[in-house]
Amino acid sequence: TAQEIERCAPLDGVRTASRTSGSRIGFEDVSVAYGGLTVLKSLTLTVHPGEIVALIGPSGSGKTTALRVVAGFVRPSSGRIMIGDRDVTDLAPYDRQIGMVVQNYALFPHMRVEDNVAFGLQAQGAPRDVIRQRVPECLAMVGMSAYGKRYPRELSGGQQQRVAIARALAPKPQVLLLDEPLSALDTQIRRAMIDEIAKLHHDLPDLTVLYVTHDQTEALTLANHIGIMRDGEMQAFGEAQALFRHPPTRFAAEFLGRAN
Ligand code: ADP
Repeated sequence: TAQEIERCAPLDGVRTASRTSGSRIGFEDVSVAYGGLTVLKSLTLTVHPGEIVALIGPSGSGKTTALRVVAGFVRPSSGRIMIGDRDVTDLAPYDRQIGMVVQNYALFPHMRVEDNVAFGLQAQGAPRDVIRQRVPECLAMVGMSAYGKRYPRELSGGQQQRVAIARALAPKPQVLLLDEPLSALDTQIRRAMIDEIAKLHHDLPDLTVLYVTHDQTEALTLANHIGIMRDGEMQAFGEAQALFRHPPTRFAAEFLGRAN
C-alpha cells in the first residue's frame, strides 16, 4: 500500500558505517548430512561483525540448511559454528543469542503484536520494566509503533514481517538470520522493505546478518558480500558489486544471468 511504501527510508551509508564491536558468524568446515545425502559440504565462511552476507543460489543448493545450522535447528555432521569467539555447535538454539526471521512471518496468531515482540524477552526471563521499555523501542525501529494492540491477522504481509523483525531484534541478538524474509510479499512492498532493512542495519551497525534469498536485487542492495551456493558448496564468494560485475566462475555467471 502507499502507506507502506511511503515509509521507505533513504539508503545511505549502509556499507560505510563503522563496524567495531559486533560478533562474527563462523562456519568452520561445516558439513550437514540428511540420511546418506550430504547437503552442505565442508562450508567455511566468515560473516564479519556488522556485515551482511547474502547466500544466493538455486533451490536445493543448501542455503536454508546453512542458516539453520547457525540457528541450531540442524546439527552439523562435522565442523564448528562460531558466534563471536564462542563455539556454539553444541548449544541449543535459545542459548545462541540469535534472532531469526523466516519467510512466512510465523507470528503467534493469538497474541497481540506487542506480546509477540515481548515473547523472546519473556522467554529469557527479562524483568517486566525492561520488557515495557524494549517492546515500544523495537516497534519504533520498524515503524510499527501504532500497531502494538493489533493481532497479526489485522496486519498486511509487510507489516507482519516488520513485526517479525522487531520480535527477532527485541532480545538484542548479536546476529540476525534472515531466511527469504521478503519472498512472500509483492514486488512493491518488497522494494520498500529492502530499503527498510538497509536503514535498520544502518541504525544497528554492529548487527551481523546472514541473509538467504533467491532475489538478486535484495542481495546486491543489502549485502557487503555474496556467496553463491550450488549443491551444498560455496561456488563463488565475493564483494557484492564485484561479484556481479565479474562473476568468477561460469556457474556464477550463468546464475547471475551474465553468460554470453
Ligand atoms: P535451499 O535453501 O538452497 O533451497 P535447502 O538447504 O533447503 O536448500 O536444501 C538443501 C538440500 O537438503 C535439498 O536437497 C533438500 O531437499 C535437502 N533437505 C533440506 N531439509 C531436509 C530435511 N529436513 N530432510 C531431508 N532433506 C532435507
